[in-house]
Amino acid sequence: MRYIEPHAHMVSRTTDDYLTMVTAGCKAVCEPAFWAGYDRSSVNGFYDYFCQLTEYEPNRAAKFKLPHYSWLCINPKEAEDLVLAREVIAMIPDFLGRKNVLGIGEIGLNKNSRNEYIILEEHVNLAAENNQLILVHTPHLEDKLKGTRLIVDLIKNDSRIDPSRVLIDHIEEHTVKYVIDAGMWGGLTLYPESKCTSPRAIDILEDFGADRLWMNSACDWGVSVPLAVPYAAQEMRRRGYDDDTIDQVFFRNPVKFLRQCENFKVIA
Ligand SMILES: [Zn+2]
Repeated sequence: MRYIEPHAHMVSRTTDDYLTMVTAGCKAVCEPAFWAGYDRSSVNGFYDYFCQLTEYEPNRAAKFKLPHYSWLCINPKEAEDLVLAREVIAMIPDFLGRKNVLGIGEIGLNKNSRNEYIILEEHVNLAAENNQLILVHTPHLEDKLKGTRLIVDLIKNDSRIDPSRVLIDHIEEHTVKYVIDAGMWGGLTLYPESKCTSPRAIDILEDFGADRLWMNSACDWGVSVPLAVPYAAQEMRRRGYDDDTIDQVFFRNPVKFLRQCENFKVIA
């Protein structure tokens, strides 16, 4: 099979992961900017991270002939410090011209706090002013439904943004309809412990159709599975889906969304 990994934090993964992903049929990997597992102490930490996402990591992936793309932002977990968050946002335009950058992400909310919301608004404005795609992280567990509604409503009410250029990630059964009805794309995150399992993700596809959904592993420095996407394809095969449908979900769909950024060069 061929597939796209649309959400993976490869800076936290080993070269063995690159090798197994390519062997399983991965044709491109996309890496949103994320929390490092600790708070960065200054804007310089983000400068170095953005250099890693746009220079070092694409070169590391290229050793495995795997195209690597990235998204840039300060993640919601670090948005409480408004001064630092604004310093980081002010630096992002300098990186938007780099050739592997897909857009602004993964922005969003974590605990649905007031400061997180302020920084979300400023990121959405940054994306609108620079005509960038948007990738959104939605909160966990009891904060997810409220957070997803806040995010979708904020973006929906900005007339400068075409909803088909926005992907809301980590959707679940109770949030998928709100996202799809708003004209946005949804991401199903396949996690062994939280978020979605493969059978749940495929149930959601069956309920809502495959047109504007993709699946990702969101593998990072925590408990996560870099091959979760091809494993979900195997679960679809087990349920009797044909190769063409599997190719649509795991390859043509992400390509269709990501090709809205001219930097994304993979052709379906
Ligand atoms: Zn992530």
